Amino acid sequence: MWGMIATWRMAAEGITKGAEILKKGGCAGDAIESAIKEVEDFPYYKSVGYGGLPNEEMEVELDAAYMDGDTFDIGAVAAIKDFANPISIARSLSNEKVNCVLVGEGAEKYAHKLGFERKNMLSDRAKAHYRKRVKEVKEQELKPYIGHDTVGMVCLDASGKMVSGTSTSGLFMKRKGRVGDSPIIGSGLYVDSEVGGASATGLGEDLMKGCISYEIVRLMSEGVHPQRACELAVNKLNEKLKKRRGEAGDLSLVAMNNKGEWGVATNIEGFSFAVVVEGKDTEIYLTENINGKFVHKLATQEWLDNYMKTRMAPIEE
Ligand code: ASP
Repeated sequence: MWGMIATWRMAAEGITKGAEILKKGGCAGDAIESAIKEVEDFPYYKSVGYGGLPNEEMEVELDAAYMDGDTFDIGAVAAIKDFANPISIARSLSNEKVNCVLVGEGAEKYAHKLGFERKNMLSDRAKAHYRKRVKEVKEQELKPYIGHDTVGMVCLDASGKMVSGTSTSGLFMKRKGRVGDSPIIGSGLYVDSEVGGASATGLGEDLMKGCISYEIVRLMSEGVHPQRACELAVNKLNEKLKKRRGEAGDLSLVAMNNKGEWGVATNIEGFSFAVVVEGKDTEIYLTENINGKFVHKLATQEWLDNYMKTRMAPIEE
């Protein structure tokens, strides 16, 4: 059995490409890197890679991570600027025994030395989004941080190897140097080939409070099905945050075990995700939380058409 699951509709083309690799017996690492690169390269996804939304200083600072579920090798970059594919840099770092999590200038120096592609990641469209938001914040007191998503994936290959990866531009208009959960192993992602893996999207500052990806893998290691593990972990963290802090930020999680069974849970309305498993085509679902229970519904053609239309619509400033 092989399979891939990923946060958000934006991952669909990527995991379809990854599935081609897995079908031919390719390894999970190659499949996930190619899948995440696809999302990083697509200019209309405004929270990952090229076209990602900038920080408060109008710079695109990117976070990404990679974890190997066989060896527990980990690699991550945070607040890296002007490199095309942060996921590839994170994967390369996972080959290092030490110094495998690098931030800012140090990450850029490493990427430069290894010859990774440099690219100005600030697109004209992202600049337009930024100008619009600056105006909105002034005029309507709209929160600057709204508008952020991470592509987070878990992959199982035919040999039983599992990997997990993330990539994001983090919160829109975040403070320079801010790091979210996505490059933090255990929070943004975690994977153990003997069990399964999980990955997160939402408000990094809150996701980190529950080490939530690790928690889901831990529950799965006790024999809990990925769907139940996601439900238990998300509901528990959501309730704890509300009780202790009065509110909970967005928390959305995807998981897959080493049999290719999967699960998803969220505390928001309309969380979309994409999944592909051996014997099936890529499917895009929307998750509804009905009193703490989650129902996954296949996205309708109308929803899918509307999604792309909105992503590509001109920005009215
Ligand atoms: N978790 C990401 C962060 O906090 C953003 C997101 O997934 O929406 O940087």
